[in-house]
Amino acid sequence: MASAAGDSGPASIGEAAEKRRTFAIIAHPDAGKTTLTEKLLLMGGAIHLAGQVKAKGEGRRARSDWMKIEQSRGISVTTSVMTFEYRDVTFNLLDTPGHEDFSEDTYRTLTAVDSAIMVIDGAKGIEAQTRKLFEVCRLRDVPIITFINKMDREARDNFEILDEISEILALDTTPMSWPVGMGGIFRGCYDMREQKMMLFDGNKDSSELTDVIDAPVDDPKLDAALPADQLAQAREEMELVQAACPEFDLENYRAGHLTPVFFGSALRSFGIKQLLDAVVDFAPSPRPQPTDRREIEPDEKPVTGFVFKVQANMDPNHRDRIAFMRLCSGKFKRGLKMHQVRTGKSIGIYNPILFFAQSRELAEEAWPGDIIGVPNHGTLRVGDTLTEGENLRFTGIPNFAPEILRRVRLDDPMKAKHLKKALESLAEEGVTQVFRPMIGADWIVGVVGQLQIDVLATRIESEYGIKVGFEAAPFYSARWVDGDPAEMKRFLDRNQSSAAEDRDGAPVYMARNSWDLNRAIEDWPKLKFTATRERS
Ligand code: GDP
Repeated sequence: MASAAGDSGPASIGEAAEKRRTFAIIAHPDAGKTTLTEKLLLMGGAIHLAGQVKAKGEGRRARSDWMKIEQSRGISVTTSVMTFEYRDVTFNLLDTPGHEDFSEDTYRTLTAVDSAIMVIDGAKGIEAQTRKLFEVCRLRDVPIITFINKMDREARDNFEILDEISEILALDTTPMSWPVGMGGIFRGCYDMREQKMMLFDGNKDSSELTDVIDAPVDDPKLDAALPADQLAQAREEMELVQAACPEFDLENYRAGHLTPVFFGSALRSFGIKQLLDAVVDFAPSPRPQPTDRREIEPDEKPVTGFVFKVQANMDPNHRDRIAFMRLCSGKFKRGLKMHQVRTGKSIGIYNPILFFAQSRELAEEAWPGDIIGVPNHGTLRVGDTLTEGENLRFTGIPNFAPEILRRVRLDDPMKAKHLKKALESLAEEGVTQVFRPMIGADWIVGVVGQLQIDVLATRIESEYGIKVGFEAAPFYSARWVDGDPAEMKRFLDRNQSSAAEDRDGAPVYMARNSWDLNRAIEDWPKLKFTATRERS
């Protein structure tokens, strides 16, 4: 049994919250997210041998049946949470699957974090998926710390990458360290915050960083340790970068306008400690959370939380689920009865789970910022608010405009009603979105990643006994339409073949291509075409 707070226990809710960092790593596949995760866990003592993150994943996959898809595709479907400690702070690291086949869960996980680390491959810069994930962070102004990885390999010009961050992501950058050389002649990084040179030794793992020269950047001690031409270049670059980039400003970072930038190598454990120190020193502790009534402060006494992900469990014979709940306020104790705002029901939480890198443990208590797993049989849904009584609803857990739309083809037409029920229930759980076109009887499902379709097909068949196929639908993307009702009616009447309703009856425009979408936006300036919609 575990307390997420350690043995002694904090004196107050506010104190416990202060000592928590709930964050995610966003990255394009192959940038080094898994490697970095592993190194962070090692640093926090949560695992002891590199390689265990994946090994554990395999163990888990082997136990599950419907997750065969996961196995055959060699990626992880589930978004998991890992808790570890470092410098007396509890870290809750939420995993965001980075494969191109990521799902809405990946996006929604970002609604449950207070900050993020953005990993960029130094040779590639900002890639498509980094950008998408960043945009989701931007919806809630999630503060970002940037880690430019793989400095032990030939990388692109550092200035170019900084420019890319400020231009593509519209974020100010403040380098906190600066690399001396790269690839085969990578010598290390100068820590501009602490004024010390951290030397890289290509022959050893750098987790126990011993080669440090404490010296101002123009100190001759550095000349003695580094090749003259490389040092001269780095000094010149640092001068330039300090003139060109704003000074680090904690408020701007926390408001999501500025990102501190670190350079390093996850594989060689170089720069990891600095990065984790930055999370402790700069990243916000649990932030106040918006609701439909007011903001909830973490140190409020009544316990509140919201569900951002529901994972169907491993055993297909039992329809049990684990709902991942982010606690927003109060001190949670095992056995607490919480009020499910959507249904008005009372739910006793008797077996809450805390997730560690190598184990799951019963949570005796948990604090704001912690993520607990709540086993249930389908009662809890994505977007649900649970409170100790107050009738408020956390906002900002949206549906995201699907990027893949498919028509559902039913093998046995007698099962149409069953299919409706299955789709509605899976949509409520957050596995897919469903749309009912204004013309025609077929359902359209919408997802943000191909894998979600596979999961959907498997679950409809194994849990509801219905065989379905998915056909390409002639649509490129969907947008929710909002605005003046008369104008909306005119628009939908004119575009009947592209109009649909989502499961709540909200009007949706399904564009056939990007040109159509832009055209609609231009031609109907009084309407809003949105890529996200708050779940209701
Ligand atoms: P993910 O897809 O973002 O999780 O990326 P991985 O952590 O699996 O890394 C992708 C590949 O890049 C693997 O082959 C890693 O060994 C490699 N890699 C990760 N970090 C570094 C690094 O700092 N330097 C070098 N040279 N390779 C790295």
